[in-house]
Amino acid sequence: MNNSIHILPEDIRNKISAGEVVERPASVVKELMENSLDAGATELKITIENGGHTLIQVLDNGDGIAPEDLPLAVQRYSTSKIKDAEDLFRIDTLGFRGEALASIASVSEMVLHSCDGTHSGGKVIVKDGSISDTEPAPDVDGTQISIHSLFYNTPARRKFLKSPKVELRKIVETIRQLSLGNPHTDVTLIADGKTLLQTRSEDLSDRINSLFDPTYGKNLLKVTMDKGDFSIDGLMGNLNLVRSRPGEQFIFLNSRFIKDRLLNSAVYSGFRSLIKRGEYPFFVLNISMPVDQVDVNVHPMKTEVRFKDEWRIYHVIKAAVTKSLKDILETIPSFDRGETSFSFESGQQKKLFYSENNPLGEFGGVSNGHSQMPFSGKRDQNEDLKRAKEYASVLAEKQEGIEGLSSGKIWQIHNKYILSPIQSGMVVIDQHVAHERVLFEEALNSFEKSHLPSQTLLFPEKLTFSPDEYSVLLELLPYLEKIGFRLKAEEESSIRLDAVPTDMSLGSEKTIIRNILDHYLEHGKEYSSTQEKLAASYACHGAIKAGDPLTFEEMQELVSRLFATEHPYYCPHGRPIIVQLSLEELDRRFERV
Ligand code: ADP
Ligand code: MG
Repeated sequence: MNNSIHILPEDIRNKISAGEVVERPASVVKELMENSLDAGATELKITIENGGHTLIQVLDNGDGIAPEDLPLAVQRYSTSKIKDAEDLFRIDTLGFRGEALASIASVSEMVLHSCDGTHSGGKVIVKDGSISDTEPAPDVDGTQISIHSLFYNTPARRKFLKSPKVELRKIVETIRQLSLGNPHTDVTLIADGKTLLQTRSEDLSDRINSLFDPTYGKNLLKVTMDKGDFSIDGLMGNLNLVRSRPGEQFIFLNSRFIKDRLLNSAVYSGFRSLIKRGEYPFFVLNISMPVDQVDVNVHPMKTEVRFKDEWRIYHVIKAAVTKSLKDILETIPSFDRGETSFSFESGQQKKLFYSENNPLGEFGGVSNGHSQMPFSGKRDQNEDLKRAKEYASVLAEKQEGIEGLSSGKIWQIHNKYILSPIQSGMVVIDQHVAHERVLFEEALNSFEKSHLPSQTLLFPEKLTFSPDEYSVLLELLPYLEKIGFRLKAEEESSIRLDAVPTDMSLGSEKTIIRNILDHYLEHGKEYSSTQEKLAASYACHGAIKAGDPLTFEEMQELVSRLFATEHPYYCPHGRPIIVQLSLEELDRRFERV
């Protein structure tokens, strides 16, 4: 490691999210493995005895620690990874708090033995709260750290430990997470003399093969998408790997394992009708993004992060999942829209259905030993086909717009909802949120491209604001003009409104600017960028309302523009825009089946 270890000054310590991270042996393993990875290690060997109660040892071939730094490394707030408070906002290492080794050493007996390749090897021993001087030790290829008698001096925590078997299971889980995020690292795990895991540098699908049972490797689909400065890359399981309980959903941010319910739900919603509530697909996805776009200093465990713009990532993950499923569904001839029944007559189709590259997987061929899983027996083939068909038809409809449009079948009810038949049943669209979605995306696009059209007001409006409101409004002026407003700043905190966007619902010209501004000021925290905040405020107040009557042409236009948006199904806050009622559902409700 180039940077030497130093103790962080007080003001930075206070900015670091504090808390205990050494809960159990698995958390020790996590911290030690993270240190090895941060040191650039490509080989890790972990030895566990008695579920970590008696020994946890991690050997790595990383950069090592200089002998004079060894006593420092085990002190509190000592790190080589950050220097000043600004570094907290551009963390590119797994660790940065400088606390792990100190916390672990305070509840165990630690031997830290290392060699940095320049000096000869050295070691320090920490026991009963005292740190030995650096002693000469044999040269090693990196760092070797051994933790003996964990919690020997904290009976309360020792009592909290589960049986060695259970603790070992937690350790294996931790190692699995870290090695999925770092497939190019060799990882060996030896527990009580038995080799439980031995992997060599490999790509992600081979890594999944090494860590899970062999059915996994045969049922994987690639997920990948680039979006500006960030990208999604990984693999997900087809329907054969869907489980009835969570636990095999892995999301990494720049190779850091993170827990994020919203992003998990982005994957689920990408599966749409292919999975039902309470079903969990398998996936391993890595998000690569610039380190200043995300705050990892949220929780001491470092598995929670705060993205600058989480909804953007949500939508990209969802789109990536949908794309990967769609690419494959489209190669299946019997998913043609017009066809109503599936046939397995032709050998070609059969092959497609049973091919390894099929989202439906090998029907009934699951024998992966998860006897508690719902699909470990035979999957319901008809059910899978039905779901896949529903899925394909949803995609087809999005691509071609709603069928009912061309046939002229479209109605408004209660001046609030739009109804239209589609291939598989019918859709109900909430006119307000639909228009909101359209305006939102169009406004966002306009910021990067050309102005949206305006309609000039017959009588310009003069509006007066409080001085602080006015200063915000001035900042927003250029964006408002992009959307299609024409405004002129005048004296005494007032503006003259000459034109409003053509698209805006009529009747709200007088109040719209004030409403947008109020909404903008009130909902600051929900959006990450000025542009999104403003687009959302405009969309909310410029959209037609529930209660507005629409003509046939207006409905047609709204629906076709809705389907031209990137995400016609959900508003940015996850509320549905379109509700589908399938024929099957109707038949069931009418007790036809
Ligand atoms: P942090 O990882 O947050 O910096 P730690 O207490 O985990 O804090 O480690 C303290 C320091 O010890 C690290 O910053 C690093 O310089 C050094 N260190 C710990 N483990 C290793 C290792 N396996 N290889 C090289 N250096 C290490
Ligand atoms: Mg660390």
